[in-house]
Amino acid sequence: VLKFGGSSLANPARFKDVADIAAQYARDTPLILVLSAPQGVTNALLALVSAAQHGADWQPALDRLHTQFSHLVEQAVPGLSDYQQKQLQLATQQQLQALADYAKGIALLRHCPDPVQARMLGTGEQFSVALMTALLKARGLDAGSLDSTRVVRSQGDYLNAGADLPATRAAFAAAKAQGMPRIAVMAGFISGLANDEPALLGRNGSDYSAAIIAAGSQAEVCEIWTDVDGVYSADPRQVKGAKLVDALSYAEAMELSYFGAKVLHPKTIGPLAQAGIPCVIKNTLNPSAAGTRIGID
Ligand code: ASP
Ligand code: MG
Repeated sequence: VLKFGGSSLANPARFKDVADIAAQYARDTPLILVLSAPQGVTNALLALVSAAQHGADWQPALDRLHTQFSHLVEQAVPGLSDYQQKQLQLATQQQLQALADYAKGIALLRHCPDPVQARMLGTGEQFSVALMTALLKARGLDAGSLDSTRVVRSQGDYLNAGADLPATRAAFAAAKAQGMPRIAVMAGFISGLANDEPALLGRNGSDYSAAIIAAGSQAEVCEIWTDVDGVYSADPRQVKGAKLVDALSYAEAMELSYFGAKVLHPKTIGPLAQAGIPCVIKNTLNPSAAGTRIGID
């Protein structure tokens, strides 16, 4: 399982870097790619919801999303054929239309029910999956999307759900029995409740998504790809001489993330430790760096 965060999907060049990494890994092993929304998209979606709730003008937030999505799809050339591009543009158009329809309803009610908000805020991840799957297919790779609402099972709140690991194991096994592409591309952040409605795993929850699906699929490793070389002994932006740590125990990693280290979502380690799956923090901008290894060696 390889998870890429929003900064690794910030622009067309980053999308290409991620496709390169996935293509290289896929030579040796089947994989699940877990993707965040492109950088800034979830915040724009939140701004859209909040504007509609307060009866303010939500159109600028929607326009920002439109601009960012179109730019990503258009600049993915020459990766995509004209046909693929048209299809993606159409799908994106439909997503934006759905957001506009929801926003109108929210503005009327001055209220956004949690199940609706969960659907809206997950739009960025859905976009990343559609674009990345198209990019990989355009390279002739056996890639397809894996529906996270179906396989990442959860319980609790629509906006801050927690993993249901036994249900995830069963759902993944069922999906696998129906056939799995060599590269299964899956949205982070979005899970499915027992009633099959989408629920979010909390802000920055894509790391947690990766851990849940890694545990549910008995993955060999869960790699979290970000924009730093790994875990440092202190925040390198604040502390001069902070050192890169090459290995950590699960307990140490959990402690660091609970005390605010931004590199890993605090809920990530639990499912991995339970399933005995190592976690590696890797840098998309420096893929040859070893990164930080968490857990068993
Ligand atoms: N896109 C979501 C967020 O910004 C989830 C994530 O990136 O991990 O919170
Ligand atoms: Mg993140």
